[in-house]
Amino acid sequence: MPAYVIPPPPQPALPVAGETPGSERSEREAGLFPVRRIWCVGRNYADHAREMGHDPDREPPFFFAKPADAIVPSGATIPYPPATEDLHHEIELVVAIGRGGADIAAADALGHVWGYAVGLDMTRRDLQAAAKKLQRPWEMGKAFDRSAPIGALAPAARIGHPARGAIGLRVNGVVRQAGDLAQQIWTVAETIAHLSRLVALAPGDLIMTGTPAGVGAVAPGDVLEGWIEGVGEVRVAYASAAPARQAAA
Ligand code: MN
Repeated sequence: MPAYVIPPPPQPALPVAGETPGSERSEREAGLFPVRRIWCVGRNYADHAREMGHDPDREPPFFFAKPADAIVPSGATIPYPPATEDLHHEIELVVAIGRGGADIAAADALGHVWGYAVGLDMTRRDLQAAAKKLQRPWEMGKAFDRSAPIGALAPAARIGHPARGAIGLRVNGVVRQAGDLAQQIWTVAETIAHLSRLVALAPGDLIMTGTPAGVGAVAPGDVLEGWIEGVGEVRVAYASAAPARQAAA
């Protein structure tokens, strides 16, 4: 087999939550979940669809993607991203696929799930809005570097398959988003069924399942703390130093 001509990129991965949260030994033993692709659902909570100016009728779910290496581990401090004046937070339930398949029936879908995590679909809303207006792709608004902070993965074998439970986000200690998984327009099982009719899912795929209402802007220096009852948490900080281009302006 020919050798790689450059070093192969590192395999993105999520830590699996240990049974004793916060115990370093327990976390190390729990292992790593290798990430293949990140699929994201648009507008999966009616109140968020409304706040974005859409009718939350039960139209089929639609999907976009982020690169696997956009993952940022919980606890990190993230440089403020370039090219935006309107970076938004979207707190989301993340589904990790452990068994692949195409044309998966909703009734069978949860059997394909390895576990769940709490993630942030960070969005350069100004670039996304411009892309929507020009009918261009969303990548530069959604799929930029470090756009997917995600907490430790909780195995479904331990926590089950959460269909309800509080989901929320605090910024600098103030609650910005608060909802319940039960408000999702498409359940996790239905989302997997829809997505697997469009692409074959494989072990390592993640699905970010949409955000409740309350999305808003993040400034340099902000601390974001998200949670989902029965699943876990995610916490990241944005570096306080403004990009050089802003300092010069
Ligand atoms: Mn989202």
